[in-house]
Amino acid sequence: MTEYWNRELETLPWPEVERWQAGQVTAMLPALRRRSRLYARLHAGVAVDVAVRSAADLAALPLTLKDDLRAAQDDASDDQPFGANQAVPRDAIVQAISSSGTTGRPLYYALTARDVETFADAVANVWFTAGVRQGDIVAHLVGLPMVAGGLPYADGFRRVGATLCWLGGLPSERILREMRHLRVTTLLATTSFALHLAEQWDEIGRATGIASSLRKVLGGGEPGMGQPELRRRISEGLRLGHVRDTMGLGDVIPSLWGECEAQDGMHFNGQRYVMVELIDPETGQAAPWREGASGEIVYSAFARDATPVVRYRSRDHAVVVATTCACGRTSPRIRCVGRTDDMLIYKGMNVFPTAIRDLVVERFGSRIEPLLRLWKTSREQVRFDDAIAVEVEASAALADAARADLARAIEDTVRAQLQVRIAVSVLERGGLPRSAYKNALVAVREP
Ligand SMILES: [Zn+2]
Repeated sequence: MTEYWNRELETLPWPEVERWQAGQVTAMLPALRRRSRLYARLHAGVAVDVAVRSAADLAALPLTLKDDLRAAQDDASDDQPFGANQAVPRDAIVQAISSSGTTGRPLYYALTARDVETFADAVANVWFTAGVRQGDIVAHLVGLPMVAGGLPYADGFRRVGATLCWLGGLPSERILREMRHLRVTTLLATTSFALHLAEQWDEIGRATGIASSLRKVLGGGEPGMGQPELRRRISEGLRLGHVRDTMGLGDVIPSLWGECEAQDGMHFNGQRYVMVELIDPETGQAAPWREGASGEIVYSAFARDATPVVRYRSRDHAVVVATTCACGRTSPRIRCVGRTDDMLIYKGMNVFPTAIRDLVVERFGSRIEPLLRLWKTSREQVRFDDAIAVEVEASAALADAARADLARAIEDTVRAQLQVRIAVSVLERGGLPRSAYKNALVAVREP
């Protein structure tokens, strides 16, 4: 028997969920334009009496870009430190959230007391779908309280009723020991840290003499948990079968998608607060929630007080895995395939770094670790005319000749399958960084 955090909205037929949400969006629009200088400007050309009755009607509203939020933030004053999209008086704001700043200057978001409640309930809904329950002891490894994965994630764990153990910020060796001592049952970590843990967990068990209580692993902060080889290694290393992916966006709500017991794509879990669309990133046209469809995710947060966003382009690129599920949840299931911002162009061919990683790990997973690093020469670089530099890690020590053979085999496979030329360096095992939060698949190296 499936348990739900919000049975009514999670099991209502999806078109009815969308219809209810459309009513919420329509109801919030007049006040939004009065409260937010950003939306007064963005919606200046929109009819005053526009009514959103279905998801299709959202097309009457303009998309909001991250650059719009940046410009709005730059328009700050003493009374409005959050800029032109600060939609409540300063006194009503109880918390500031910062983006992680991995793609440029950090953006700040404000929360009222009601926003904090909204975040806690929505994030708890995702953790519940991903199998976290009262009685679980959760290791939370995000180091900074101020980022979206910090305090809001922690609030979500406590809202579920689980025991929060905030170990983020400690040295990695200490985290592992504390996890044994505290009898942690559940871990939330990046996929790369989960992998690191899988390699170290037995050794820590021997050093502490404490048996493992770990039963559940939740991925968050970076895509990758959708990759079967990576899941297999985490499952085997930690001897557990419960490995679930999650995803959200600090600008909207930090956790919005979570995997159910099917462990095959993330359900949307933000029904109560956020309307979600899929669009073609090139044309901006809506794409239907249909199995196999792909596109960029766009969010309309109809219950945000302090820094609202409507039709906000997430830059997250997703593939729809299914629109039905044995668990009874009616929201679509997706896999995130990368950030639209991360897309690279090799001699006119579009390619996601994640596509390169997934292909290489799928074909060479028995010989390399399921981690990769691509190098750009500047943060802004999108186009490549020369082979893209890629580093992989060998699983076992290799002689120089074997190392060169492996590099060539990987390069040939990627060229044949993706029409993209890469230049592979094979590093020793452990040669790539494994961070607890936001591990970069693409790094920048000045020439
Ligand atoms: Zn399901």
